[in-house]
Amino acid sequence: MTKNKESREWSDEFNPFNSYKGLRWGDNFESSKLWIDSGSSELLPPVVVNLDIAGGVCNFNCPHCHHAYMVQDFSKKLKLVPKEMLSQIPRFLHEWGVKASCVVGTTSDATLNPYLPELLKEMHNWNVDLGLVSNGYKFNERLINHTAFYTKFVGFSIDAGTQRTFSKVKGVDGKKFKTVIKNLESIAKVIDKNNLRKDVSYKYLILPENYNEIFEATKIAKDIGCNYIQIRPAHLSEEERQKIDVGKTEELISKAQELNDNTFQAVGVRHKFTPYFSKVLPEKCYMTPLTSTWTADGDVWPCVDRRHYKGDRMCNYLIDGLQKVKEVWGSSKHWKIIKHVNNTLDDCIRCSNYGYNKLFRAVSEDDPMDIRLI
Ligand code: SF4
Repeated sequence: MTKNKESREWSDEFNPFNSYKGLRWGDNFESSKLWIDSGSSELLPPVVVNLDIAGGVCNFNCPHCHHAYMVQDFSKKLKLVPKEMLSQIPRFLHEWGVKASCVVGTTSDATLNPYLPELLKEMHNWNVDLGLVSNGYKFNERLINHTAFYTKFVGFSIDAGTQRTFSKVKGVDGKKFKTVIKNLESIAKVIDKNNLRKDVSYKYLILPENYNEIFEATKIAKDIGCNYIQIRPAHLSEEERQKIDVGKTEELISKAQELNDNTFQAVGVRHKFTPYFSKVLPEKCYMTPLTSTWTADGDVWPCVDRRHYKGDRMCNYLIDGLQKVKEVWGSSKHWKIIKHVNNTLDDCIRCSNYGYNKLFRAVSEDDPMDIRLI
């Protein structure tokens, strides 16, 4: 593994991957910090609910699937959130004060739930901003249109720039690469034709098998009308990470960024990782109450990166009902779970919230920016 050079993450800092957007949710952070430190104040609702609507079985077979690391009791039985429940969630989230939802699958893909199109429409109708992340394969015309009209962010996890590598990193017939690219292109076209403002992203996890294809993938992403290619380190064993030439990867990200213009950006996310692409964790975690994570079996978890972690489960909304989620939120049970989280931080497989943790510590505790001196 060679060392990386100084590298930049993006050319325009106002993009969906910059953790500085957390500053907009300063009240939530203050509420979270006060509640965690004292255990007695009121906790604001989460900004985002990460909603897994399918779980257990996938139409792809990615060897590096980070959900598979998290789900210890992976049962290989397809679990889908039922239609009746999906029809109630958008209104519930809106009335609770949740601003957005990221719809995905755990060891599965959201597209395996046949009620995904209705869910997208209802979320939009209830003013819940939507992110949809998928492997991008099972999209028909209806889902393409619903995605284009009702989501704010759509990202396909593609992780390859050629059919051959796609087959290796997705564990499926390489011919599916073309279908996935076509589906993403179709979404971008509907968006363009209807003059909708959306963020369409080609997602690219850096792996030993694919780091040398970053530039090829970026060219494809730009050609098919994406706004972004999001390139970021994957959750890998130390042995696998050693197989990545970090210097070469950085070189290719810089080359990809030469294609940036006012409609397209190659984003190389680093601020949540070490220069060698391994995880970084905060000393103390205040950030989990920014989001709530619900897996397809109905379990509710405090952190997006600790699905199914022993001792973290808050309740089950499919069994206990949606109101129970609100009851548990900010309760002594939730507080004890957050203490447990903080006592076991080393077990977090990565920290998607690291940038928020760092940012808020800086502006609310260390104050390097002299925050009041505007
Ligand atoms: S991954 Fe760990 S450190 Fe990061 S927000 Fe979740 S619980 Fe906190």
